[in-house]
Amino acid sequence: MKRSTRGCGCAIAVLVVLLAAGGGAFWKWGLPWLRTRPPKPTGELQVHVLDVGPIEGDSILIISPTGKSVLIDAGDAGKGKPILDALKRYKIERLDYFIATHPHPDHIGGADEVMNAIKVGTVIDNGVDLSTPAPSPASVKKGAKPAPTPIPAKKSKVKSVNSFFDEYKDALQKSGAQHEMAVAGKKYDLGGGAIVTVLAPNEPFFTRDQMKGGGNDTNANSIVLRLDYGDFSMLFMGDAEEQTEARLLGKDLNLAAKVIKIAHHGSKYATSENFLKRVQPEAAIISDGEWNRYGHPAQSVLDRLKAMNAKCFRTDLQGEISLTTRGKIDAGKLYDIKTAKDAKEDVWTGREGQKDDASRSGFIAYGDFGPPPKAKSEKSKK
Ligand SMILES: [Zn+2]
Repeated sequence: MKRSTRGCGCAIAVLVVLLAAGGGAFWKWGLPWLRTRPPKPTGELQVHVLDVGPIEGDSILIISPTGKSVLIDAGDAGKGKPILDALKRYKIERLDYFIATHPHPDHIGGADEVMNAIKVGTVIDNGVDLSTPAPSPASVKKGAKPAPTPIPAKKSKVKSVNSFFDEYKDALQKSGAQHEMAVAGKKYDLGGGAIVTVLAPNEPFFTRDQMKGGGNDTNANSIVLRLDYGDFSMLFMGDAEEQTEARLLGKDLNLAAKVIKIAHHGSKYATSENFLKRVQPEAAIISDGEWNRYGHPAQSVLDRLKAMNAKCFRTDLQGEISLTTRGKIDAGKLYDIKTAKDAKEDVWTGREGQKDDASRSGFIAYGDFGPPPKAKSEKSKK
């Protein structure tokens, strides 16, 4: 009896040890694996054009049918919170790709907050380096693309475009993410049949001298993307300018798309008639801020879209704009677009511009004229 009791005690002890070891192993390796494994394919592709607030900025979240995630741009500096909130809302714990279309603060300003808060697999940008210039020109690294336009020193207290880029670069280095430069023609497989293709920039990069007719060279070198999923297609224009569109038109590219994220917040220097004729969009989404002073969106752009019978959606009037599609007609629709709120004003009425957003007028980037005008206060309404 004694022997048998001892044997039983040993077996229990071994079992306890094994269970403890198993539990520990699960805690250490099993749980992280469960957290990082891709979610089950849903068959649904989502595109959320985020509302980053009244100060202008782009940020678009794509979630593929297999759960891969892409963030295109990250709003303005210090405005990472609405983006991080959206990532939480859509249960994104890791971004597969972060794409910075061009190094202006209204596109990369919140990138440091995003990269500090969430793991990013690969960061893709256009390779334009707007770092604060080193004291000696000899220290410029070989191979790095030079800034297309010298950034004049600012007299005001507003941070320079260079310092925003420094923060982006610093966060990128600390994040441990892979870094790639966008190459026109390269495709990224998001799984489930969803593919992102880089359409621009194309070498040689636009220079300030080429912008005499209007527009801005840094914008003109934006990354332009095409997203395909079954019968659905969408263009993401970044802050591309008419010159970018003309270059794309000159190439043998499939530019026809069901939906277009309009270039440069609806600036009058982009979304040309010739380009729209090739794209033939059914719906246009404009990411713009209600406090912008650049006349975004321009009435001329809205008129061109209206003439094409395209539907128009605007983040300044409707907040976040969310598109879902199964890549084929489902319940009578190829895709569905929902807005966070109903527009209180006419989406077909543009905004008056107080400032020009072309290189020739000294435009550098949004925010370069100080804080936006105050919205009508409660006091003035009374
Ligand atoms: Zn912009």
